[in-house]
Parts: sequence; structure tokens; C-alpha cells
Amino acid sequence: MVATDTSFKNLFTGFSEMVNQIPDFRTLKKKIKYTVQEICASAFAMMYFQDPSLNHFQKRMKEATNQSNLGTMFKVDNIPKQKRMRTFIDKIEPQYFYPAFPDIIRRLDKAKLLDQFQFKGRYLCPIDGTQFFHTKCEGTGCKHCLTKKHRNGTVSHSHSVVVPMIVHPDQKQVLPLISEEIRNEDGKKKQDCEINASKRLIPKLKEHYPDYRLIILGDGLYAKQTLIDLITENGYDFMLVVSPDYNKGFLEEVERRREAGRIQSIEINKKGKVYCYEWSSEIAFKKTGETTDANYIGLTITDSKTGTITYKNTWVTNLELFEEDIVDLVAAARSRWKVENEGFNILKNHDYELEHNYGHGTENLAFNFFQLTLLAHLYHQAHELGDKQYQQLREKKETKKNFWDSIRAAIRNILFIKWEDLIEYLLNPPELAYDPVSKTIVPKNTMFRSS
Ligand SMILES: [Zn+2]
Repeated sequence: MVATDTSFKNLFTGFSEMVNQIPDFRTLKKKIKYTVQEICASAFAMMYFQDPSLNHFQKRMKEATNQSNLGTMFKVDNIPKQKRMRTFIDKIEPQYFYPAFPDIIRRLDKAKLLDQFQFKGRYLCPIDGTQFFHTKCEGTGCKHCLTKKHRNGTVSHSHSVVVPMIVHPDQKQVLPLISEEIRNEDGKKKQDCEINASKRLIPKLKEHYPDYRLIILGDGLYAKQTLIDLITENGYDFMLVVSPDYNKGFLEEVERRREAGRIQSIEINKKGKVYCYEWSSEIAFKKTGETTDANYIGLTITDSKTGTITYKNTWVTNLELFEEDIVDLVAAARSRWKVENEGFNILKNHDYELEHNYGHGTENLAFNFFQLTLLAHLYHQAHELGDKQYQQLREKKETKKNFWDSIRAAIRNILFIKWEDLIEYLLNPPELAYDPVSKTIVPKNTMFRSS
């Protein structure tokens, strides 16, 4: 079969190129036992298979057969000891992992798999923050921990991040583009926060995706003049939830226009509910100082029988508003929830055990492991979009848990030369039986041979 642009082997080429740029800062060259590739790829494989004990099982396979799945699929000949792996990854500056993300996105784009995510010639890109690591341990934590003092005098440490992802109202997959840690730096008294991290993130997004037109979606926290300026200066559009705290003047003007009958609206009845869409253009965003004119969109959903409001939200956007687009725009703005539901929730609660303590480290370990987990998630999303056999196996195994359990079980015992062989094997598993004569597992149909 001809390898497509998004075959595992091709995707992994990008990983190796990225790893080549990571400097080997180990000074005692004589003591170097594992290459940077072996260290990074074995950590990535752990996240890819969502298996903290992966290296242990592959090491045993290597000892027994002189080969392992880490060797065949991830180019790891010498499987590093956990401690060495963690020590090295802790020291890597997080930005070295950034290029792995645009590499995958470009490959998806080249394979035309991004087309289905297009929205009016652009991509919808919610930005949202989440905590991915938390510990109540005593002590000082690592260099970049966020800290919280409790009433009983204890201090808990945590790590959080902001992640922009490409989403689409009709697509199940979400595609993380990069991530920016919310992290404390030496000598700074005030703790870092989501907004500051987002301010660092937006120029980085532009740097790594210079030719992608994005519509930034964000919650009320983001609807601030400084952030809007940063978004537009970088050539992006925005649809942000209006915050009653920060956008008082804007909302007052909406109210004045409503009273004057100057707000446009349409109503749609759907399944016992009334959807009321509202919009109005060119409203001053800030009362005083330099101000941007922005446009207003609102949606109120009311139960047609009881008259109860079941949903209400308002957005501020720089996108031009036309009546025929309003329903789509609101659906786009509302797709922001996918970051939480299809992104963070899956990472945290279901498959990747993001909060599982892979390791904290003293410098960058927690965040670098997060980045590798996010990258593994992006690989899996790429397989879901572009790999027919992967899709078939996902369907066959019904739940994601079943799917990954069967993959983990297979790689613990069987050597595969490539990822696609593993999927093929699970799609059409040979019938096996225990042969008491040879005391081995053999194909079932060779069992009852004549003696
Ligand atoms: Zn820490």
C-alpha cells in the first residue's frame, strides 16, 4: 500500500526532525548511553500508547528477542531507564517541542484533511486554559509551579496551560496547534495567569502558523481591548464571549440600540424551542481611550411551551455580519465548548490520564510530558481523520478503552514491524491456540498435525 502523507511513518519523520534540533547538553560524553532520539521517542511512545509501563514491557521483549516495538516503530534501539529519561526531558527547553505540532497540521493540510475544518475560508480556533498537574506535596515544587496557600498553612503546587485548537461545529476531532504554559518565572512576585500566557501564545501561534487564517474564540476572560488588539495585529479574527465585568459600555450600547429598535434579529423554531438570534454592527468596544469598533451577536433559546430561557450568550466579533451567516456564526462561536469536551476532558478523564503523575521534575518535566501527551492526541486525531484501517478498528472495538486495551495487550507480546501491521493484525487477528507438543502459540489450523 502506498503510504499516504498521514501514515504513522510519515508523521513520525517530523518527530525525528524536531528531536534533531534538541541540543545534547550532557557534558560527560563518555557516560552517554542513550541518544536524544531514544530518550524523547520512548517518552513519546509512552504517551502515544497511554501506557506508563510501556518501556518495561518493551525492555523485556528486547531482552528475549533482541527486538522491540519501540525499536521497530519509534527507532529506539536502547530503551532508556525511566530515571535517565526523566532527568533529560526535565532539562529540555519546552519550545523545542513546538515544531512537532505545525508539522502534523501541515501534513493533514497537504492530504486535504483540513478542508473539512474550514469555516468561511478560515479555521475556528478556540483558546482555553486548563490545569494538568496538581500535587499537595510538601516542599518547594519545581521552578515553574503555580502555588496556592491553604488555610492550614500548606502549599499546593500545580501546572496549567493554554491551548489553541482547530475545531469545527460538524467535526468530532479537535486539533491542538501548540501550547503555552501558565508558569511562574524566577524573580517575579506576581503569579502568571491565563491572560498573560495567552498574550505570549498569540505571537507564537503566528510564528508557527504564519499562513493560517484563524478566528480566535474565547470566553469572557478574553474580551479585553489589549487582547483584541493583539489578535488583530497578528492578522486573526475573533469571536469572544462578552463579559458583563469587562464590557459594560459595549453591553449598554447594545441595550440602547435594542430600546431604539436598532438591533436586527431572526427567530427560528426548532424541536419545541425558539432560537432568537440578534446582531448589530459597529459598536464602540471601550468607552474611553483608543477603541475598536466591534460587532455584537446574541443568542437566546427559549422553551416554546413554558417560555423559560434555557440558553443565553452574547459575543463580540470583528467579522462582518450578514443575516444569512448569523446562524452559522453562532454555531461556530458555540463550538468553543469542544476544547473542553473533546480536548481537555478526553486528555484528563478518559484515555491519556493527563493528571496521572508521570513525573514532576525540577524544571520542565511536567510541561514537556504534557506537550508529548498533546502531541500523541494530535497523532490519534490525524489517524482518525486519515487512516481508514484505524477508523475500522475504532468502530470494531466500539469504545476507546477497548481499542487501546487491545493495542496495549498486542504490543506487550507481539513484535510489529510497523504501526499499520499492528492495526491490520487487530482488524483480522489470526486464530491462535496453545500447542502442547511444541509448548508455543501456533495458528489454530496447524495444531492437529499427524504425528
Ligand atoms: Zn512544578
